[in-house]
Amino acid sequence: MAITVVGSVAYDSIETPAGRRERCLGGAATYFSLAASYFCDVRVIAVVGEDFGPEQEAVFKSHSIDTRGIEHTAGKSFFWEGSYLENLNEARTHNTELNVFASFEPKIPEAYRDSEFLFLANIDPVLQRRVREQMPGVKLVAGDTMNYWIKDHRPALLAVLKGLDVLLINDTEARMLAGESNLVKAARTVMSFGPRFLVVKHGEYGATLFHGSGPKGKSAERTFRAPALPLEEVVDPTGAGDSFAGGFFGYLASQKQLAPGTLRRAMFYGSVMGSFACERFGTERLQEISRAEIDERFNLFRELTHLD
Ligand code: AMP
Repeated sequence: MAITVVGSVAYDSIETPAGRRERCLGGAATYFSLAASYFCDVRVIAVVGEDFGPEQEAVFKSHSIDTRGIEHTAGKSFFWEGSYLENLNEARTHNTELNVFASFEPKIPEAYRDSEFLFLANIDPVLQRRVREQMPGVKLVAGDTMNYWIKDHRPALLAVLKGLDVLLINDTEARMLAGESNLVKAARTVMSFGPRFLVVKHGEYGATLFHGSGPKGKSAERTFRAPALPLEEVVDPTGAGDSFAGGFFGYLASQKQLAPGTLRRAMFYGSVMGSFACERFGTERLQEISRAEIDERFNLFRELTHLD
């Protein structure tokens, strides 16, 4: 099973209480791909500038991630600068430079066309939609977005949401998108925009899956909550959401059926990959996990939540 993902491949400058890193490899599609690569084949669509060299390419290659859809062009790669000094759950953006993404025309390599799964990682919704339209045969489409696009690119974003099966966003963004502060009501509104499944991420407090459409007031029948691992030290939360998405969607892609139990386990694998991402700066930890560590942490989550 293969997932095609479109999204940012970027350089990030990050400051957290644990320190600062300049221009490390990042981007939503990068975190997603690395996390998902532990579960299934991953194919990336993105654009990078002249500052993206063999060293960065090797990070993808060492996880057998197909990079034929990463276009190299003149100019600088996407750049994002953010900090988490007051709140580890929410990045403060200091600078976003789209650079080569500003004039990107996504092209799908022929070899990607048989992908059954498509992930529209965080990027301009216009680009997400162009990729979606070029992949009409996919079985399941999931996507992500952020405040930046919700605030100023709403019509384009609503057009993307119509074509999604699963949307993963954080709770502030879900409330912002719905214009509603109650999470259950916000979820209902967001799902009326298109997605059948909605995963709302709560940072260090875990994530909630909303699915189906039970009667009003019986929200518990339609929700599932997975915790996040209580970590003693969060070095860098950048990419935790994208890594959650990679674990969640990568696990779904590796399974034959989309049964309720599969979705619940996917929520746990999402939490597992999100927790790894926070342990070191940038993609450092995601690059070197073993399958045994993933299974071990999955079992830890089981223990964390099991009642008997
Ligand atoms: P996360 O912490 O999971 O929400 O995602 C962090 C990643 O998103 C960073 O590696 C950034 O490069 C990337 N990013 C930040 N802002 C944007 C944006 N406006 N569009 C696309 N990607 C972004």
